[in-house]
Amino acid sequence: MKRIVEIIMSAFLAFILAACTGTASNQAEKNEQKGEQNSAPAAETDETKPSEGAKAKLLYMGHASLRITTAEGKVIYIDPFVGEGYEPAADLILVTHAHFDHNALDKIKNRKDDCRTITWKEALADGKHQSFDLGYVKIEAVEAGYNKNHDVKECVGYILTLSDGVTVYVSGDTSKTQQMPELAEKKLDYAFYCCDGVYNMDLPEAAECAKLVGAKHDIPYHVIAAKDGKYFDRERAEQFDSPNRLVIGEGEEIELVK
Ligand SMILES: [Zn+2]
Repeated sequence: MKRIVEIIMSAFLAFILAACTGTASNQAEKNEQKGEQNSAPAAETDETKPSEGAKAKLLYMGHASLRITTAEGKVIYIDPFVGEGYEPAADLILVTHAHFDHNALDKIKNRKDDCRTITWKEALADGKHQSFDLGYVKIEAVEAGYNKNHDVKECVGYILTLSDGVTVYVSGDTSKTQQMPELAEKKLDYAFYCCDGVYNMDLPEAAECAKLVGAKHDIPYHVIAAKDGKYFDRERAEQFDSPNRLVIGEGEEIELVK
């Protein structure tokens, strides 16, 4: 009995030690970031460089909510609204438009000191689609809207280019845009298309867009109108007619590869 108690105690101590070390390294990271701003001595590792072999990951949280963790460990949230997984501190938050089902910024309680938030307002500054280079990711705002519920002047989609060259396009809320044929030149890796058919384009139009853009993987999201606590429908997602269809369910995380 005494032996069992000893084992439990040592496991408990190891757990406490691990938790403390974690907190300490978080603090060190924060200090490091502050230090960088004050031009303190350079950190030993360059945070903007991916660690060897590390791949970015994408978590689909339901509806249009996504979380990307880059190879460098940077955390990017897109259109926060539903699902689980908002704990990791945000480095970047992207919002496509003002509607409540894309713009629940209060979901993200943990943010790095230098967390950047880019909404449709910055993305459409001066009425032009803007680009942003944050080192670990490049962001290009692209056209979205083009239907009676969404104004092209107040909505954007985004194309993210990660440091390893992987590209991710999120359509935002839209119907077919004039810009989509041009996006084909980018040979995108992952493309998300809204397709609820209530507030946005329906499945056939989304499939047409996917054909125009020609990404390597076409992913249906925002597949139903958000209501009654339902934010995804796999059966409907599987009706998205693209040869490159990739269905990602709520709470599923994929590795982003070139
Ligand atoms: Zn929406």
